[in-house]
Amino acid sequence: MATEPERDCPLCPRLVAFRETWRAAEPTWHNAPVPTFGSLDAGLLVVGLAPGVRGANRTGRPFTGDYAGDLLYRTLLDFGFATGTYDARPDDGLTLVDAAITNAVRCVPPENKPTTVEIKTCRPFLIDTIAAMPNLAVILSLGRIAHDSVIATLGLKRSAMPFGHAAAYDLDAGPALVSSYHCSRYNTNTGRLTEPMFRAVFEAIRARLPAQG
Ligand code: SF4
Repeated sequence: MATEPERDCPLCPRLVAFRETWRAAEPTWHNAPVPTFGSLDAGLLVVGLAPGVRGANRTGRPFTGDYAGDLLYRTLLDFGFATGTYDARPDDGLTLVDAAITNAVRCVPPENKPTTVEIKTCRPFLIDTIAAMPNLAVILSLGRIAHDSVIATLGLKRSAMPFGHAAAYDLDAGPALVSSYHCSRYNTNTGRLTEPMFRAVFEAIRARLPAQG
């Protein structure tokens, strides 16, 4: 089982070339597949699309260092899925609580747009990550592509479980699937996703995964 790709994973040539460009331009950045953050014993798995070039690709921790992370980590802290302080750095001491965060595509794609083939090529790492989470109760997909990749990962039919903001599917066997518009700067600036809308998604998650203790 391989929940994490190797640092020089060669499987997506376009992403490898992009990674090499950034390694040359910014040698102090992470510039590699971004590993899952949090324990695989968690009950919640947040699945994003792919690292942002100046966010997770720079810092090496999902959603850390760009706008999407500000909203995501603030909300995780508010709902008890994290403790500490989020300071947009991987060494800020923030700890996830019963939650883990990963991406459908582990390497940064040009213009934030992985191809269909790249999404499929990286899917085995998501499959193995999900398979390695024995207590997984809820998967939160951020954006349609992440949602569709999760559906494919679980061998489910996309038409039976279409993406929608705050859509929730409770399966007979396996984790509940909750989806949300991606918490990107674009979506929040345009009003497609507001903070109350994002919090409503986490309320739906908490209803399925009560806080422990
Ligand atoms: S996106 Fe995934 S499969 Fe493709 S090179 Fe990166 S780690 Fe490997």
